[in-house]
Parts: sequence; structure tokens; C-alpha cells
Amino acid sequence: MNPRVRFAPSPTGPLHIGGVRTALYNYLFAKKNNGTLLLRIEDTDQTRFVEGAEAYIIEAFQWLGITFDEGVGIGGEYGPYRQSERKALYKPYAEQLVRDGWAYYAFDTPEELDAKRKEAESQKKTFQYDANTRSEMVNSLTLPAEEVKRRLEAGDHFVVRFKYPANTDIHVQDLIRGEVVINSNLLDDKVLYKSDGMPTYHLANIVDDHLMKITHVIRGEEWLPSAPLHVMLYKAFGWDAPQFAHLPLLLKPDGNGKLSKRDGDRLGFPVFPLQWHDPKSGETSSGYRESGYLPEAVVNMLVLLGWNPGNDQELMTMNELINLFSIDKISKAGAKFSLDKAKWFNHEYILGKSAAELHPYFTPALEAHGVHCSDEYVEKVIDLVKDRLNFTGDFWEQACYFFEAPTEYDPQALKKRWKEGTGEKLRVIDQMLQDIKPFDKDKAHDNVMKYIQDNELNMGQVLNSLRIALVGTARGPELFSIIELMGVDEVHRRVERAVEVVNL
Ligand code: GLU
Repeated sequence: MNPRVRFAPSPTGPLHIGGVRTALYNYLFAKKNNGTLLLRIEDTDQTRFVEGAEAYIIEAFQWLGITFDEGVGIGGEYGPYRQSERKALYKPYAEQLVRDGWAYYAFDTPEELDAKRKEAESQKKTFQYDANTRSEMVNSLTLPAEEVKRRLEAGDHFVVRFKYPANTDIHVQDLIRGEVVINSNLLDDKVLYKSDGMPTYHLANIVDDHLMKITHVIRGEEWLPSAPLHVMLYKAFGWDAPQFAHLPLLLKPDGNGKLSKRDGDRLGFPVFPLQWHDPKSGETSSGYRESGYLPEAVVNMLVLLGWNPGNDQELMTMNELINLFSIDKISKAGAKFSLDKAKWFNHEYILGKSAAELHPYFTPALEAHGVHCSDEYVEKVIDLVKDRLNFTGDFWEQACYFFEAPTEYDPQALKKRWKEGTGEKLRVIDQMLQDIKPFDKDKAHDNVMKYIQDNELNMGQVLNSLRIALVGTARGPELFSIIELMGVDEVHRRVERAVEVVNL
């Protein structure tokens, strides 16, 4: 049987990279096994709905190259895939559970529940709505049948709660964790449905996974506490449960706790795939895309946070990942996020791209600085500087002097390299370069070296001062490659200007 898996985010804000990793594992699992991945939007909790979040989620996956076979924005035979559009279908399932004795109507008001909580607190206990307390509450188990009917017909507020059997061990089989056992006495009778006609996450999720024929539920560890209820719901409905795989947490860089947005703000890395502008608070959070990461690097970095191919291989294309992926290589232990590693992956992916592939990433910077150069020239520059880039946004800083002559010279570099008489020597070298016709980089190198040796000059001083004249600082790729690309006419202008300005 071909597996069917889903990614089921709630549109409550931008997608955390932990959620991206969940979607990625689902994607790889589906692709590896000729399965289907669907995108279901779980928007039953209207109080947490955030405008723009769904569009953000879809755009993030487009950027990352994670594609869905069915779902919101795509369609498919099991739609609609947005739970708010499926609202009407959940009610009969809630009623079925009540009829079959797996659930009950509860009419307790918020005040009554609060009073119970306070009472428990005063005895240093926590109140739980469960097999021990439900008989003291206002529900269809304690009220006469006519009274229940009357209340429902009168439109009184109610919730439907799941009725766990008392003191029963519930077994959850997890593909990553093995068997997890929990006693029902530890669990409260979760709300499944509310009188406003909305199911809660638990009911909608199980009904939809069943109706959409989901075979494997691969999701974050934070859902493990809900898994016993889900297992029981499948049992109550008499449906086969899908297989569960709860993924390890993404941890803070120091390993202490779950990676949060605050860690990102504090340590200077994004925890969201794309920049997010919160419509309520007006706050903007950084995204990997806007921070200059390549989507392939983000995918590769994320996949290894909790999974490995069984060897030391680190750089893998999406196709390789699809071939290598398997759930049994997902670890149980939480995976620590590392900014250095993220940077390293990005650098490697930048290096792996051709100049023509990288060019579009740098177009905004070139346009912002009013650069009008041929594609050929820009791409030669890219080839020379790309091994100096960690992020696409580093390009201008590393390459600006190829497009604009320096107007200032790094004072520290000057102090170290530019001595009395340097100006004349640079003029001699400039003339030597002009005389090589047609220009030849190797010849230029040899002639300049010979001049330095014959005159017993300090090589570091001469070459670095030439570099300062051309670049503005003592950095950049190999000097004769810079000269070749810039062209001797430009070299001449820059040497003349530096000699005049520095004027030692
Ligand atoms: N809507 C849940 C979420 O936001 C889905 C959890 C699940 O995959 O069951 O993560």
C-alpha cells in the first residue's frame, strides 16, 4: 500500500523551522515510498487564527522546494482540506461517540469549572475532569436524560468530552520511540466538540486523518501527550489507527530546552523560513530567505537535526535525501540547532552554485547601487568572490570594488603597508602592467615579481599597497585575478588616485 501522510499546520502565525522539518520528513517519507503528501490547514480554533499565516505557509514551502500532492491550494479527492470548510461534517462523529458511550455532553459553566480548580488548589491538588470527578459535574452522565435533552434543545452551551475508561493502560506504538504506555487515570476528559459547532483539534484531526486515509502520522514530539487520546478515539470509532512517529525536539544551541523565537532574536538567527510581519503586534521577525540563506542549504541543515543517513555524509541534494531517508534513522534525542553549522551549509551551497545561478540573488544589491555591467563581467566577479560568501547578502561587501572605485582607504592597512616611496613603486608597476599588450595575467605576475626581486623590495608591502589602491583595504581574492578582471585602464586610474590621496 502506498503511504499517505499529511502536514497539518494551524494558521496561528509564521511556521517555526521545527514545523518545516516535520513537513520535510513527511515529504521525504512520501517521496521515498511512492506515497502522497497532503497539506491540511487546521483552523478550527478561530481565536488563534492569524491573517496571512496560511499564505505564508504555502509560500515558505514553495521557496524550500517542498511540494504537496493534495491539499489547500492544490485540491484533491479528499477535500476540502481546510478544516473550517469541513465544519459540518464533524458533528455526527461527536454524536456517534456520545451514543456509543465514548463521550458525554458537559454543561459546566466556566465559573463552575473555576470553582472546582480553586477548591483543588486549596488542597494543593490540580483539578482534572476525569473518571474520578465527572460524577460530581454537570453533564449527561449525572443529569436526567430529559434534562440533557431540554438543555440541548434550548441551545444551552455545552461541550462534548471524551470518556476515558477508568484506570486503563493505553498503549501507543511509536515508530521512533517504540511502545509508550500511559494510564488513563493520568488523563483528563478532553473536549472534542463545542456548542458553537466547532470540533477541537483532537476530533477534527482524527476524523480527517481517517477520511483522508492517512497511513502515517509524522509530527513533533509536542503531540506525543495527545497520542493516547488519539489511539483511544480510533478505538472508539472502530477505525484502524495510522502508524505514529513523533519527532525529537529542536533544541536551543546550548541544548537546554526547545528552540524558541526568543533564542533566535537573542543569538541572531532566524527561526522562521521567511520574514514575517505580524499583523497584530506589528513586529517583524527575520526569515532564512531574507537573511541570505539558499533554500537547499536550509533543507540540508534541517534534515540533519534529528536524522542522519547512517554515515558521515552531510551534503545531500533533495533527490539523495529522498533515496536515503528512512524513519528508523530518526533519533529519539532532541537535536541542537547550531548557527555555525547553518552558516557552513549555506557557504557550501553557495560554492556549489555556478555564477549564473547565483547572479539573480545579487541583482537587488547591484540595482540598489546603480550598477550597469554586463552579465559576463558580473559573473566573473561572482566566480572570484563566491568562496568568501556565507550569505547571499555578503556579496556587495565582498565585491563592491569591482563596480565602484574605492573612495577611502583603510587607515590601518595603509599604516602597515604604505611607506615613503610606495607611490613611485606603484606607478612603476602600473606602467609595467600597461606595457603588457595584450594583457596576460601570468606575464603580469612574473614581471611584477621580477621587479620586486631585482630591486630587493618588500613583497608584502608592495603587493598589499597595490591591493589597497585597487580595493580600498588589504583583502580580497588573488591580486592578479583582480587586476585582470578590472582591466589595466581601471588599475591605472585607481593607482593614480591612491597615490594622490594618500600622498606620503
Ligand atoms: N494542527 C496541529 C499543529 O499545528 C497538527 C498536529 C498533528 O500533526 O497532528 O501542529
